[in-house]
Amino acid sequence: MRFLDSAKIYVQSGHGGAGSASFRREKFIPEGGPNGGDGGRGGSVIVVATADLNTLIDYRYSQHFRAERGGHGMGANRHGKAGNDLVLKVPVGTRILAEDKETVIADLVEDGQTVTLCKGGDGGRGNTHFKTSTNRAPRRFEPGWPGEERWVWLELKLLADAGLVGLPNAGKSSFLAASSRARPKIADYPFTTMEPKLGTIVIDHEAFVLADIPGLIEGASEGAGLGDRFLGHVERCGVLIHLVDGTQSRIVQAYRTIRKELELYGHGLADKPEIVCLNKVDALTREQLRRKAKSLAEACGQDPMLISAATGENVRPVLLRAFELVKARRAAEAEARKNVLEVS
Ligand code: GDP
Ligand code: MG
Repeated sequence: MRFLDSAKIYVQSGHGGAGSASFRREKFIPEGGPNGGDGGRGGSVIVVATADLNTLIDYRYSQHFRAERGGHGMGANRHGKAGNDLVLKVPVGTRILAEDKETVIADLVEDGQTVTLCKGGDGGRGNTHFKTSTNRAPRRFEPGWPGEERWVWLELKLLADAGLVGLPNAGKSSFLAASSRARPKIADYPFTTMEPKLGTIVIDHEAFVLADIPGLIEGASEGAGLGDRFLGHVERCGVLIHLVDGTQSRIVQAYRTIRKELELYGHGLADKPEIVCLNKVDALTREQLRRKAKSLAEACGQDPMLISAATGENVRPVLLRAFELVKARRAAEAEARKNVLEVS
């Protein structure tokens, strides 16, 4: 499962059901009139934005979405059943683009916002409708009207506000799980890749996006074209949360290894404000904790936060601090945009 924030899907609304050509046939009523009911309308394909999702990952596994067709009309003026609408849930922030990837069909920015991508076809009329004074026994009926179909792109403009870094096994996925609605798969071995790389952190009705940076790098290398988008995440990041596994013996070396990688990666990654966390403190004795926190503090030049992604201890304070820095960054960006407008 690579990191993914766009998906191409095929959607088709249901065809309308055909009208019926039927006549009354009852005992003692010869030559009963037409009584064919209308076909039901086909289901529409509707997209709804929801705050409960934060990736388009669902649309990676299935690509084709068809709403139900309408039922056929029947005798005795019974109408066909309307086809059920197909409702597709996407995260808030999703943009829907036409197949050309340029024409914007919808920009879903609010929770609950909907857009109908394909309208269901109308049902055909049954032969009851075609009775005239000269034709009392019409055999004419309409077939259902066809549904619509199209390919569209779903694009999620979600960008990371904060980045998680740390060696494999440091607890990044666990931290993401502890802090967001994302539910990553936790594994006992390094390099777990079957997991979301992004989480939306909601604090007092405000949200920011936290990304597992190494996870994103893995994702970027798996698919062509993802590299640029990955850079977008890195550039947008206002803060790095650097996790160090407290249960390993070489704390300082682990910290420095990651710092070096950040330098090597470039693109300003190493210059971001950093919140250093000593993780897995639940598994340390008090003496180990004191010693490790001290050497890490000396290496990084700040007092590390002492956390446990497993128990959730001190995770919230880390998020609050990160959010402060994210907000500072956003304010600076807004200010910069304002200045550009004033100049131009
Ligand atoms: P990642 O490779 O950085 O994403 O690390 P994971 O979140 O997958 O965690 C690696 C291993 O460390 C898993 O077995 C986790 O259960 C374990 N782990 C993560 N955080 C903690 C913690 O706070 N305490 C303890 N005891 N184990 C943890
Ligand atoms: Mg992981």
